[in-house]
Amino acid sequence: MSNALLSDLVQSLASGGVKVVDLTETLRPEYPTIQLPEEFAQAWGFSKETISHYDENGPGWSWSNFSMSEHTGTHLDAPTHWVTGKDVPNGTVDTMPMEQMIAPVCVIDCTAEVAADKGFILTKAFLESWEEQHGRIPAGSWVFLRSDWRKVADADNYTNMQEDGAHSPGPDQEAVLWMIEDRDVLGFGTECVGTDAGQAFAMDPPYPCHHFMHGNGRLGLQCMTNLDLLPPTGAVIVATPLKIIDGSGSPLRVVALVAG
Ligand code: MN
Repeated sequence: MSNALLSDLVQSLASGGVKVVDLTETLRPEYPTIQLPEEFAQAWGFSKETISHYDENGPGWSWSNFSMSEHTGTHLDAPTHWVTGKDVPNGTVDTMPMEQMIAPVCVIDCTAEVAADKGFILTKAFLESWEEQHGRIPAGSWVFLRSDWRKVADADNYTNMQEDGAHSPGPDQEAVLWMIEDRDVLGFGTECVGTDAGQAFAMDPPYPCHHFMHGNGRLGLQCMTNLDLLPPTGAVIVATPLKIIDGSGSPLRVVALVAG
């Protein structure tokens, strides 16, 4: 590779020819963390405590401690997050190859469907009709389900929890297997709190996106925002997790490089 490629990129970033779009939610205590059925242990939400703020605890400096789970806020799911992926080589965030964390994305606009049904199920047929308009999903790319969830969901019930569980969009088993086996995707991403649909606990197998994506060494991104600022194809995602030892996932900053 010549240096010209990278210097072109740097110049395009400086001139605005390539824009950087932030797909990350702000880490804050009130942002919802996924809730499992009550018989299971729960993940920590985000909390932050001041160490000093230009005061007697540290007159010249400001800093804080914070705590959260590996799966709080905008975060990556590594293959070892799921039991099906526990033996995937380099399946933890500290060992996974970083080359794959800079990758193209196909953005599937499901906003009309989710507006009509918050529990919309993404099918293989829906993905195939997307391809008829936008071309084949390239191997090694992310597939993002765009729902504009932040605008659709009730702020006081972000996961859309009902008496029978959460209702939020996600793919069915056939769509997941097709993305893996027929399109060889890198992973699946969403603006909701999980890559699986809210009702996916009742699918067979339960949580098919986690089950098959991670079992096949693929990744997940969730709790993103601003997917409405991405084109259907052509954007490049930069998503590098924290290097947590044996980490099953990690909060991270997800940015997209968008031409134009
Ligand atoms: Mn997760």
